[in-house]
Amino acid sequence: MVQSETPRRAALVTGGARGIGRAACLALAAEDMNIAVSYAGSAAAAEQTAADCRALGVQAVALQADVRRPEACKQLVEDAAAAFGRLDVLVNNAGVTADKLLLQMTEADFDAVIETNLKGAFFCTKAAARLMMRQRYGRIISVSSVVGLHGNAGQANYAASKAGLIGLMKSVAKEYASRGVTANTVAPGFITTDMTAAMPEAARAAASAAIPMGKPGRPEDVAAAIAFLAGERAGYITGQLLCIDGGMGM
Ligand code: NAP
Repeated sequence: MVQSETPRRAALVTGGARGIGRAACLALAAEDMNIAVSYAGSAAAAEQTAADCRALGVQAVALQADVRRPEACKQLVEDAAAAFGRLDVLVNNAGVTADKLLLQMTEADFDAVIETNLKGAFFCTKAAARLMMRQRYGRIISVSSVVGLHGNAGQANYAASKAGLIGLMKSVAKEYASRGVTANTVAPGFITTDMTAAMPEAARAAASAAIPMGKPGRPEDVAAAIAFLAGERAGYITGQLLCIDGGMGM
């Protein structure tokens, strides 16, 4: 008897062109998933990430979408699903900072971070959950931060957005557990990417000094946890928060 081949699973990673998102794309591709690399402005980097995924033997496409726009998120999820005929994994990774002390922080500073980090994840999750619920299978993973758990001076907007993601994922986990859809959150600590490279040297030194392991993490460290939560072995894990921070948040 001819065995029917299990179709390759497909993943969408927002902000997949650079940093943690790029590492997540490559880690999921290494787990034999087709990859939709979503980007906002980094078209060339997104094409490069997609090419690097294809070099691992899977299919990959780069898709432009600004996650602040609900229609763009809906279209992004539909295009990713159409590219591969299915969508099994969503990684809400796109994120920004606009750091200021509270009294200097404007409403625009606050909204800009909430709109990208929290509402963007809401829009993408809503579109993906609709589809995953129907296929009775899905893995949704949001990239929060230890700052969402502990707060940080100068990051009230960012901390609020990242704390919000944890509640969002726990709620989604409860709503869709019976449909085979899991929703989990990873909370990176201090990871070497463009985002942290933009910090003042003194702030980077202080962050490194607060890490029991004594060094910043790599995007690949976060990607490994994302790949685990996206995989078959994590099928009974939902509504959880996993810190990848070298002990920083203990
Ligand atoms: P990064 O290198 O600055 O990358 C940010 C990513 O977000 C980029 O791919 C960017 O896409 C995307 N993005 C920003 N605004 C967007 C929008 N409106 N629509 C769609 N995509 C958008 O930062 P990173 O360090 O890899 O951060 C990735 C995630 O990890 C973020 O959510 C961040 O908050 C979180 N995180 C990072 C650290 C850390 O220490 N690095 C720690 C905790 C949590 P384009 O380049 O295409 O514009």
